Amino acid sequence: MLQFFIKSYGCQMNSYDSSRISDALMEAGHKTAESMSDANVVIFNTCSIREKADEKLFSDLGRARLLKLQSQITGNDFIIVVTGCVAQSKHEDIAKRAPYVDIIVGPQEIHKIAEDISDFLKKDRVDTIVRTASNAKEKFLHLTDQFFNRDVSEFLTIQEGCDNFCTYCIVPYTRGREFSRDVSDIMSEARKLLSMNVKEIILLGQNVNSYRGIGLDGKTWNLSRLIFELANLDGLKRIRYTTSNPKDIDESIAKVHREVEILMPFLHLPVQSGSDVVLRRMNRKYSADEYLKCIDFLRNSRSDMAFSSDFIVGFPGETDDDFQETLKLVNTVKFAQAYSFKYSSRPGTAAEKMDQQIPEEIKSERLQILQEILNKQQSQFNNGYVGKSLNVLITKQGRHKNQLVGRSEYSQSVAICDSYLNIGDVARVNITESLSHSLVGMVV
Ligand code: SF4
Repeated sequence: MLQFFIKSYGCQMNSYDSSRISDALMEAGHKTAESMSDANVVIFNTCSIREKADEKLFSDLGRARLLKLQSQITGNDFIIVVTGCVAQSKHEDIAKRAPYVDIIVGPQEIHKIAEDISDFLKKDRVDTIVRTASNAKEKFLHLTDQFFNRDVSEFLTIQEGCDNFCTYCIVPYTRGREFSRDVSDIMSEARKLLSMNVKEIILLGQNVNSYRGIGLDGKTWNLSRLIFELANLDGLKRIRYTTSNPKDIDESIAKVHREVEILMPFLHLPVQSGSDVVLRRMNRKYSADEYLKCIDFLRNSRSDMAFSSDFIVGFPGETDDDFQETLKLVNTVKFAQAYSFKYSSRPGTAAEKMDQQIPEEIKSERLQILQEILNKQQSQFNNGYVGKSLNVLITKQGRHKNQLVGRSEYSQSVAICDSYLNIGDVARVNITESLSHSLVGMVV
């Protein structure tokens, strides 16, 4: 029996993959460790969306190496595994810079990690196991059907990979072509999660609203049809989905938001830039005006809809005027939440080879200006709920006695003092206070 510790970087899909790796290891009889120093198997599930993310791995690998040396002195096993998008895009680099890594596995080979670990121990191997096949269908076919330790809100990957090739993005090279899981597969996983007291399911995909899976009737179902089916499941209190692409928003999405009450009125809809010139260079396949029409279309379909988004500043060729276009769009939409980053060149992407790369100091200036506006919009959105009520899914105990913490429809963190509610309950809460990144309230 081994003690394993998984460090997950980056996106929700990595969190989902990490929980599935953990399921397979627990099914094999191994136990979770509280920290890296308590473990004899350390798994890094990596992200390569930005340069900084890559480098984070190598500094953590340095710490794991010391633990491995200590274990070898006492004659104990210590296995280091690197998986996720850096394993896929930089496996040779990892093998060169960190030859003490034992297993390097891409995100679509995680279903073999438990087997590789026992193989590694049995055969007392010295050479590194490297697996980087790109086949999402195989992965979902062979992931264990055992599930362990779930919270009231859980991710469920329904689609993986991407066919869009935005010029700055490495995902199509690390997660391959779009693959949509069969509806029957998704429904059985959802039922398992519900049997483990899960109340909220967050459907995941790199382009979740381009989901096209084989339906229960053998026909092709889109995301909307799938959500209508999921909404019939007893015990499911909330559905969310992420990440959507504005180019795939259509009437079916508006219809499902209008008609499915447990589908939350909060949509993450990355725009990246407000300039048509930059959007074309990014190969985003929509204009700023089309994005705004999308927002209006959804707001007209369900008046309580709110939005979050992603922004990249300093994309190659972005002028001051282009940046002003981004600020104009932000002031038009008014986002409830948003994530913004400086453009980071990724190896192998089209934008890496583009001319007119923007100096770091200009990127930093623009990011600061943008974040000031976005933070103000988030505070205004939260302040707007003081004196109003929200539906809050209780997710955990708070730090104080009788304090519970939960998430509103808009994923705002809400703290309440109540001793009668349980984790998993949805309560109507009157908001009494808005803090920097959370709300405080009382049960109605
Ligand atoms: S849609 Fe674009 S940004 Fe999103 S995963 Fe695909 S290539 Fe990357």
